[in-house]
Amino acid sequence: MGLSFGKWARDLSRWLPPAALAHAGQPAALFFHGVEPVTDDARVQTNHHEVAAFRDILKGLKDFDVLPLDAIDDVLAHPGRHARSLFLMSDDGYRNTLTVAADILEEFRMPWTLFVSTAHIGSGQPNPIFLARLFFFYAPPGDYALPHLGTVHLAGEESRMKSALSGVDRLRFLPGEQAQETLAAMRAAFAAGELETLIARFASEKFLDWNEVRALSRRGVTIGAHADRHWPMHAGQSPDWLRQQAAGARARIETEVGPCRFFAYPFGNKRDVGAAAWKAVRDAGFSHGFTTMSGSLSAGGNPWLLPRYGLGPRDSHVASLVPLLFAGNPRLRRWQAGLA
Ligand SMILES: [Zn+2]
Repeated sequence: MGLSFGKWARDLSRWLPPAALAHAGQPAALFFHGVEPVTDDARVQTNHHEVAAFRDILKGLKDFDVLPLDAIDDVLAHPGRHARSLFLMSDDGYRNTLTVAADILEEFRMPWTLFVSTAHIGSGQPNPIFLARLFFFYAPPGDYALPHLGTVHLAGEESRMKSALSGVDRLRFLPGEQAQETLAAMRAAFAAGELETLIARFASEKFLDWNEVRALSRRGVTIGAHADRHWPMHAGQSPDWLRQQAAGARARIETEVGPCRFFAYPFGNKRDVGAAAWKAVRDAGFSHGFTTMSGSLSAGGNPWLLPRYGLGPRDSHVASLVPLLFAGNPRLRRWQAGLA
C-alpha cells in the first residue's frame, strides 16, 4: 500500500456509503493544523482548512464519539468497546486555532487536543517549512548557492514548483543544525523588510503566544507537545537535539500551562521518526506519542508510535474513510517492529 495509503482510503471512501461501514468501526485519531476563513495562496498556506470545508468535515463526524484524549488509556485497553470513538487533534499551534477553530469545535461539542511546538509559541519564529516555501515562491529570480542543498535556480512558476518540491524534501532530512544554516541563507535572499512584509501577509502562519495557549486550556482543550522546534526527529538528529525536542518541550509546557503527557512528532511519517526519537519521548515522561502513519488505534504495539490520519483540505467523505484506517495497521506494526 506504501505511501499512497491516504489516497487509497480517500478514493475508496468516496464510493462507500457510511451506513455500510457503521459496524466495521475501529477507534482512530485524526488531525488538522489551522482553520482560516479563506486562504489566498495554496502553495504557501498548505496547512490550513477553509472554514466551510472544515465544517463539512465535522458534519461528517457527527455519528462518531469524539472523546477527550484522556480517554486514550481506556480506548487502547478496550478498542472493541470503542468502535465509534475518535480523537481530534490540531498540530503546530497556529493562532487561528483560537480565533477560528475553537469556536467551531465548541459549536459541534467536539473535544480536541492542541499539540504545540514550544520554540514557536510567542517567539515570532515562523514554521521553517513556511519560510522555505516563501523562499521558493517569492525570492527574487536567480541562482542561489545554499549551504547543504547546493545551487537552486528560481525563475518561472514551473521551476519554482519543482525546486520547492525537491528542496523542501531535502531540507527536512538534514540534521537540524545544518537546516538552520540553509534557512538563514534562504532568509538572506530577501531585501531588508521584504520577508517581514510577506510573513505579515500570511497571518494564517502566526503562532499562538502562551497566554493564548492557556486560554485554550481553560476552555477545555488538552495541550500536548509537538516538539520544541518544528523539525523532524529522524535518525540523523543528535541525542542532545532529541532530548531538547522531547524533554525540553514537555518542561516548557508544564511551566507555562500545566501537566503534559501527550506528544505528536513533527511531520511524523516513516522517515521523520527514528528509533532514538520515540525513546527520547518515552524517557521525557510522555505516556503516548502520535505519528502521522495511517492506522487505527486497535493496532496495538508501541504506545509512543501510535497512528494518526491527517485530514485533507476537503475530506468530506470522512465518515466512510475512518472505518478503513485499520487497513494501515500491518504496515504500521512492521514499522514499529523495525524501530524496536
Ligand atoms: Zn506539525
